[in-house]
Amino acid sequence: MAKVYKIAVIKGDGIGPEIVDEAIKVLDALASVYDFDFRYNELLMGGAAYEITGDPLPPETIEGCKAADAVLFGAIGGEQWDNLPREKRPETGLLKLRSALELYANYRPVKVYEELVEASTLKPEVVSGVDLLVMRELTGGIYFGEPREKLEDKAYNTMVYTKAEVERIAHEAFKAAMKRDKRVCSVDKANVLEVSQFWREIVEEVAKAYPEVSLSHMYVDNAAMQLVRNPKQFDVILTGNIFGDILSDEASMISGSIGLLPSASVGGKVALYEPIHGSAPDIAGQGIANPIATIASAAMMLRYSFGEEEAADKIESAIEQVLKEGYRTRDIADYGAKEICSTTEIGSYIAEYVAKV
Ligand code: NAD
Repeated sequence: MAKVYKIAVIKGDGIGPEIVDEAIKVLDALASVYDFDFRYNELLMGGAAYEITGDPLPPETIEGCKAADAVLFGAIGGEQWDNLPREKRPETGLLKLRSALELYANYRPVKVYEELVEASTLKPEVVSGVDLLVMRELTGGIYFGEPREKLEDKAYNTMVYTKAEVERIAHEAFKAAMKRDKRVCSVDKANVLEVSQFWREIVEEVAKAYPEVSLSHMYVDNAAMQLVRNPKQFDVILTGNIFGDILSDEASMISGSIGLLPSASVGGKVALYEPIHGSAPDIAGQGIANPIATIASAAMMLRYSFGEEEAADKIESAIEQVLKEGYRTRDIADYGAKEICSTTEIGSYIAEYVAKV
């Protein structure tokens, strides 16, 4: 009997619909290899939801996500919604969904495809072989802390972490490290911030439960420098919400294109999978967006939410194969392209290879 997986699909804004369609194409190709029955439920979020319902995160979207086995998400946002009040902005929809699903841990793996080492702005010998994971705390810290306010003559936000919040993300990082190279580097600003001193103490406590994992600490400013100096020194980088936001974007550039990297947000019962990039309004609708990050996010969904390790490997091998053969979207066209492809063409090649590899 076919295995049924319920997937909530949020395409979002900008290039969101284009790239999510390609991930679905690849999942469908996989379904015919294995006996999977993917049931997609399309839901609204972001600007697209605001335009139709006046709310960037309608209650039906939260309910639909909670009723699914996993959420596959494209991207949200666009200039036309930038001047709306905060409650109505697309980003607020995503932040609220992460909270509603209790997605406190954000996995951002950065692996360099050998065929694309030249695509990085860093030297090939610096990036070749990089395989690191940024573990970012996603539902706490300064993005959510109260009080927050913007007044006439001043504005403020609050950076706050509770013991329980630090403990759970630290456990997540140590568990991930156990499956990797068993090294965690916790990144903070403990030389200036009390909240970071607190973070460090709790991470030290949690580390005692994982004697096989080595723990180091680094200040965030140094980490930003070390990531471009010698990224290979890192295995798992554990960090809070705002530092993780910045460092994971920096780390993404090691790979050469923001269009290649997937992410998973986990914690509660239902996890969410999305590319790390935004809605790229500058290229939306042109059929040139790179769908690989979203397709790789679908592979993470198979691995982490459905336990379908082999099927996930198949997608990842198909991506590698397509890159090896020289098929490229425009963002990576300067590096070994045999054929410059549209978004749908790359999706079709990967779907084809999924059935072959
Ligand atoms: P962005 O990631 O959308 O784009 C940055 C640059 O990378 C652009 O030049 C874009 O064309 C390019 N790019 C991004 N994804 C690509 C892909 N798959 N293929 C090829 N090129 C790609 O970041 P931005 O321009 O700062 O933000 C645009 C909008 O996206 C904003 O409204 C922002 O708030 C939103 N955003 C959303 C998310 C999300 O949905 N998770 C994340 C970041 C930004």
